[in-house]
Order: sequence, then structure tokens, then C-alpha cells
Amino acid sequence: MPRIGPPAKQAWTCAHMPDLQPPECGEPANWHGIHWGQFVSLYSCDEHVWKVRELADVVHPLGSACGLPGSVYDDELETCLLPDTDPSLDALLAAEPELAGASR
Ligand SMILES: [Zn+2]
Ligand SMILES: [Zn+2]
Repeated sequence: MPRIGPPAKQAWTCAHMPDLQPPECGEPANWHGIHWGQFVSLYSCDEHVWKVRELADVVHPLGSACGLPGSVYDDELETCLLPDTDPSLDALLAAEPELAGASR
């Protein structure tokens, strides 16, 4: 099924538990952390981002692709992208139009 447009931003919430047990903080998340070893995502509000910085290998402002299936972390841009919407491919084809028609 073709994608019609970028998916709507998901409502991630801060999973930090101030007392190390439920309930979670639950504030809207503004930060996305990734732990490469376990390949887990951590989300947090502004107040608890210090905890994510402690646990995660990379921390960046929550973006529209964060946490979506198939999204990848881009080291250069320091954010998550969906490969389908990678702007660099469009830019490449625009700069090298013969590449787009190479298979015809
Ligand atoms: Zn929080
Ligand atoms: Zn992200």
C-alpha cells in the first residue's frame, strides 16, 4: 500500500518513574533516546531527560519519525528518519536526472 504522506506524530509520553514504580510520569515526551545495546527507545519530558541521557547512547529532540516502524537514526542529522521519505534521495535524483531514467 503506498504511503500518502508522513504519518502523524505519535503521542509518546515520558516513561520515567520518579519512585521507580508506577505510575509513570506521563507528561508529553519531548526527547527520544536510543540504547544501541538493547536497541530500545526511551522517551522523556523536559524534566526527566537527564535520566535518558544517563541510560541512552544518543538523545535527540523527539521528531515526527521517532519510534515509527522502519525509522532509522541518522548520525549526521542526529534525528530519526523514515527511509521512504529520505530527502537526500530526492535531492540526488534531482541533481542527476539520468539516474532516474537509467533503468528504462
Ligand atoms: Zn517526565
Ligand atoms: Zn528519534
